[in-house]
Amino acid sequence: MKKSKKIYLDYASATPIDGDVLKVFNKALKENFANASAIHDMAVENKKVLDIARKDVARFFDAHSNEIIFTSGSTESNNIVIQNFKNIITTNIEHASILEPARLVNTTFVGVEASGIIDPKKIKKALTLETELVSVMYANNEIGTIQPIKEIAKEIRHFNKTNNTKILFHTDATQAVNYLDMNVERLGVDIMSFNAGKIYGPKGIGALYIRRRTPIKKIIFGGDQENGIRAGTENLPAILAFAEALKITEKIKDKENKRLKKLQEYFVNKLLKNQNSLGPRVAALNQTLDNFNSSKVKINGDLENRLPNNINITIPKIPSDLLVIELSARGVMVSAKSACKSGDEKASHVIQAIRESEQGESLLNKEVDGSIRFSMGRETTKQDIDYTLKSLSQILSKLKKWYT
Ligand code: PLP
Repeated sequence: MKKSKKIYLDYASATPIDGDVLKVFNKALKENFANASAIHDMAVENKKVLDIARKDVARFFDAHSNEIIFTSGSTESNNIVIQNFKNIITTNIEHASILEPARLVNTTFVGVEASGIIDPKKIKKALTLETELVSVMYANNEIGTIQPIKEIAKEIRHFNKTNNTKILFHTDATQAVNYLDMNVERLGVDIMSFNAGKIYGPKGIGALYIRRRTPIKKIIFGGDQENGIRAGTENLPAILAFAEALKITEKIKDKENKRLKKLQEYFVNKLLKNQNSLGPRVAALNQTLDNFNSSKVKINGDLENRLPNNINITIPKIPSDLLVIELSARGVMVSAKSACKSGDEKASHVIQAIRESEQGESLLNKEVDGSIRFSMGRETTKQDIDYTLKSLSQILSKLKKWYT
């Protein structure tokens, strides 16, 4: 069953560029090449265009334009934030661009619950008078679980008030922009990272929201661009495309959320044959799927507090890379874990973290079953899901000897 058309279910890794965004990008590549920081006419014109784009981006987040700093993407945004502090609290399910720099300083890693959600009370418990920054991702890139950002912000505000501290709150919102409330006032965050490559914009462009008077310094030295926080010639064509991508996202967000939620329900219900709706069912975690050759498929992460485009499953005893390759051979593109860690042989740190929470013990150096992530997007159809599940079922019967 080789398919000529590719079914792309890896939108959490990268989205295709939207057609209208591409038009803006191409036009700007041709017309807006002058350096926006120079002083001749063409540069001044470009500076004006840049200011408008910054305002447009800021509006999406209910921020002021001088609170938006353009970067090369979320990895850089996250590094700027983490490298500014010495005493940090974060979680054990963050992206590597938080975890890696955080390991270099004094960091407390709060463990996630078995549901894939961080308990705000555990963040509260970890706060000390020395804490400078709390960083908790808005939505997890592997299992799509949505973190209680507003509640965590509340705990931090309360601690600051009671103890006269100035602990800042950062969220990596890279996976959230397409689907969730992005109003920085309602969220109560001081700093936020996001990029264009996940919202149908070009890759290599991202941003940081930094609330006014928040003390963030540059980590790469050079020019004074971006409020002196991010040196380097402004990537104007990509910035304009980013602003356009946000406008489109805003326009279709509600409709697309509903459409994807339905597809997600359809996908999950076909997996969990006897269940009809996506209620608050962490219980579904250990469901046995009789239509999948008794291979005991587990859905990872809470089903309710979850991005509408994510389905993440574990099929015990079958290496996830093998499933990814088998699906790919049938024309279905998925990922086993964060794309930037795909070559790494260890199981996903996110899956390990939720299993540790389930089992109440450290699983360091123990074998943890892998997982595969199906992440849907604007082009995904019901037929794609049907084909994917049919392919998966065939692969499981082919690989029967792995788990029986
Ligand atoms: N943070 C999260 C949650 C992500 O999913 C990703 C990319 O997948 C990143 C950060 C890194 O983003 P970028 O590729 O823009 O550096």
